[in-house]
Amino acid sequence: MTLTAKVMLLGDMGVGKTSIMYRVVYDRFDGQYKTTLGVEVLSYDVPSIPGDGADPTRFVLWDTDGDFGTQIFDTVYVTGASAAIIVSDVTRPQTVTRMIELIHGFETRFPGRPYRALLNKTDLPEAAGSAMRLAEVAKSNVKLVSAKTGAGIVESFVELAQTIRRRQL
Ligand code: GDP
Ligand code: MG
Repeated sequence: MTLTAKVMLLGDMGVGKTSIMYRVVYDRFDGQYKTTLGVEVLSYDVPSIPGDGADPTRFVLWDTDGDFGTQIFDTVYVTGASAAIIVSDVTRPQTVTRMIELIHGFETRFPGRPYRALLNKTDLPEAAGSAMRLAEVAKSNVKLVSAKTGAGIVESFVELAQTIRRRQL
């Protein structure tokens, strides 16, 4: 039986939430998505890992606009969330600060539920100097990714699916 899990995409405006969703669902990068208004929902069947032996996982991805900040946790959008992908822009330190706030908000609202913290836009030249330092600042298991090149994106979703299956959320 397919396991279906609602996954929230969280993070400041412009960090690349929509780009990450389109990369993982359609394997493309457009460069100019319109600002998401409210929420967009897409489903993504997570590729199964050979030898995993588990049922397939379907993610229902909720891409919210970044305007909510941590107030998102007071809205109906997050109801029933199994997990979150929490995104920041490696070239903008204030978005990393927001990512950390969102991590704390998610942990408070959904204790014990898994999330992945992603530092996006690692393809940009400015990323080289800041990536390691920022990853250290964030202190959680932050993954360096690029929606533009696709680096780290599918792996992040697969790992999240494995965590959810393991914990049977
Ligand atoms: P959102 O507001 O979080 O949904 O962010 P978007 O997905 O709309 O992306 C905001 C801007 O950043 C757009 O101009 C994207 O093309 C750009 N962008 C997103 N991801 C990347 C990336 O990995 N690398 C680069 N260079 N630009 C990106
Ligand atoms: Mg968006």
